Amino acid sequence: MNRYSRILDKNPREIVLLKSRPCKWGRCFFCDYIEDNSENLEDIVGFNNNILNEVKGDLKQLEVINSGSVFELPQECLKDIKDIVIEKNIGVLYFESHYSYRHRLEEIRDYFKGVEIVFKMGMESFDENFRNKYLKKGIVYDDIHEVSSKFSSVCLLVGIKGQTKDMIKNDISILLNNFDRGCINIFVENSTPVKRDEALIDWFKEEYGYLEKLDNIEILWNNTDFGVGD
Ligand code: SF4
Repeated sequence: MNRYSRILDKNPREIVLLKSRPCKWGRCFFCDYIEDNSENLEDIVGFNNNILNEVKGDLKQLEVINSGSVFELPQECLKDIKDIVIEKNIGVLYFESHYSYRHRLEEIRDYFKGVEIVFKMGMESFDENFRNKYLKKGIVYDDIHEVSSKFSSVCLLVGIKGQTKDMIKNDISILLNNFDRGCINIFVENSTPVKRDEALIDWFKEEYGYLEKLDNIEILWNNTDFGVGD
């Protein structure tokens, strides 16, 4: 599995896929990448250190993903990231976080003081029923500003059987009108029972393929488009 990559075309940055402790939520119906999580802290730290050693720092931006939330990385890994950030003079860090950690985001900002932190949050869909009843995301809010005031970047999932065109239209509209950045992941079948809807993906490509031209939107047609994962 590739764990280090460089994204050069849009928003250039290095990206590392680290191992972490188990995702605290761990219940999303479509997710099987939590199988990459581990309980062995010693192994995680050594393993991640080898990957972090590949970071060059020339792009001045580093994205760290870990099949969970940044809060599930051992403290020693955060320290290793911090050392690299200081040594290579990296100015922007991207981390992932589940919505349930929204009140702890400042801990990370404080720890990496002086570095811009962008938290990416897997919303998957703004359709409450689809997101929570089917995808089991565990994200409940009353007003979209509760979300956008904490997370400037959200990830959406597109192309799942059961999803509708209207849901996607609404998702894209909310994303474009409320968030600085977005990442749209076209669903790729995995070991979970969730199925891909090819017709819906063809429609999305036709209708929303132009989003790829926007500086603040990334579309992953394949889940390895960032060059990490398998
Ligand atoms: S929060 Fe993320 S890592 Fe955890 S189960 Fe859901 S999709 Fe998977």
